Amino acid sequence: MSLPGVLERIEKACGRVGRDPKGVRLVAVTKEHTVAEIREQVLRYGHFPLGESRIQEALPKMGELEAEWHFIGPLQRNKAKFAVRFELIHSIDSLRLAEAVARKALEQGKVQRVLLELNLGREPQKHGFLEEELPQAIAQIQALEGLRVEGLMTVAPYTDTPETVRPIFAQLSRLADRYGLPERSMGMSGDLEVAVEEGATLVRVGRAIFEQTT
Ligand SMILES: *Cc1c(COP(=O)(O)O)cnc(C)c1O
Repeated sequence: MSLPGVLERIEKACGRVGRDPKGVRLVAVTKEHTVAEIREQVLRYGHFPLGESRIQEALPKMGELEAEWHFIGPLQRNKAKFAVRFELIHSIDSLRLAEAVARKALEQGKVQRVLLELNLGREPQKHGFLEEELPQAIAQIQALEGLRVEGLMTVAPYTDTPETVRPIFAQLSRLADRYGLPERSMGMSGDLEVAVEEGATLVRVGRAIFEQTT
């Protein structure tokens, strides 16, 4: 596959449900890829937000490449001061983390855009709020100065049959609607069509962009 191939998959999925492809942004997940690879396989096709899941790996790349960087991985509170360099943090998964990020954002005089991560598959090894924790989490986090909650994010359970995770994506969209949040970050290389059909506004795709299939 390649980045244009991924865009085509997004467009086709939009076509099936009557969505405007402009309502879906492709976040190119660049973890484990060098700046040269990112230039060659992402940026030659245009400006796309770039997603990284580890602070230590992201910082040197951010120093080299001017781009809209998104943080998508598990975030430790002691890295909050670095996290506020990202345009959007997809992975706020606790009140204490939100407080730490809000504090650093205020120190920098900025309002940090964030998404709240949900563990809708209720997998013990995954990060994110459980559905029943969300009402309180949203209320507490929206009350913090220095943060703006723009939406929800989830990583669906791994599967070879993407149809099985459709209910999870549908649920994320319903919850975002209920709380009036515009952004839904869901869908990866294996399940992006189903996510787009269920209302994704941000899809996070790595392998399908970088893996060369011949
Ligand atoms: C790696 C990663 C992705 C991209 O997954 P692919 O299967 O490579 O498309 C998306 N979201 C998160 C949180 C990731 O860590």
